[in-house]
Amino acid sequence: MIRKNLLLFILLTIIGSSCNKDGDPLFISVEDDKQLGLQVSQEIESNPTEYPLLDEATHPAAYNYLNNMRNEILNSGKVRYRDEFVWQMKIIHDDDVLNAFATPGGYIYVYTGLIKYLDKADDLAGVLGHEIAHSDRRHSTQQLERVYGIQMLLSVVLGRDPGQIQQIAAALAGNLAVLRFSRAAESEADEYSVEYLAETPYQCNGAFSFFQKLIDSKQAGRTPTFLSTHPDPEDRIGEINAKAQEIGCSIVPLDPPSYQDFKNSLP
Ligand SMILES: [Zn+2]
Repeated sequence: MIRKNLLLFILLTIIGSSCNKDGDPLFISVEDDKQLGLQVSQEIESNPTEYPLLDEATHPAAYNYLNNMRNEILNSGKVRYRDEFVWQMKIIHDDDVLNAFATPGGYIYVYTGLIKYLDKADDLAGVLGHEIAHSDRRHSTQQLERVYGIQMLLSVVLGRDPGQIQQIAAALAGNLAVLRFSRAAESEADEYSVEYLAETPYQCNGAFSFFQKLIDSKQAGRTPTFLSTHPDPEDRIGEINAKAQEIGCSIVPLDPPSYQDFKNSLP
């Protein structure tokens, strides 16, 4: 790992920049994404006060449900790092937080507050698709690179900067405003959510219902956490529905009754 990063530095010095599969400038490798995600997940697990994780062993039904939904999305054939990233799902037991977030390398966190807030499986599938896209399209990596710089990120990857990992975890969880994604990254995550869901039984514009519900909550005077990192819900609804129309996928809610069982399986 050390030798690889040294080589990367030398290469970067020579050519000045690097690109990922889509031509986005990225100095951090996919291998580093995985390491960074691992470090963040360990930080989250070591801090139950900030991140009260729901224990998988005592809530197998809830995790089964979530993992099945994840698998349906991963099997869409549209997730490019499906086999490279870990795609680990964790539920954070906090009913007051309407949020979900993803780290580089595919560690996905969903708050019980969000699961309970949503009405049907399609809505959650839309959000999961969106978060999976943030990891898979490497948006979190791009944003972290921009905010923290390459050298600092690589020292975190190498385990040399344990103090910073706490800040990075908080930033990814949306607790620090610094990590707001670009509008382009948000639109891309929304579009991929539709594309993934088009290959599943769910309503492909599931993310739309979620944003609609957020708007309704906002109007009711309650501003969900997700909106601080995901602005302009009104415009995004239009974009999500336009994408669904463009690819002609099903917008009929699947709404399996098991979503209520899933909610009931949560403490
Ligand atoms: Zn997002």
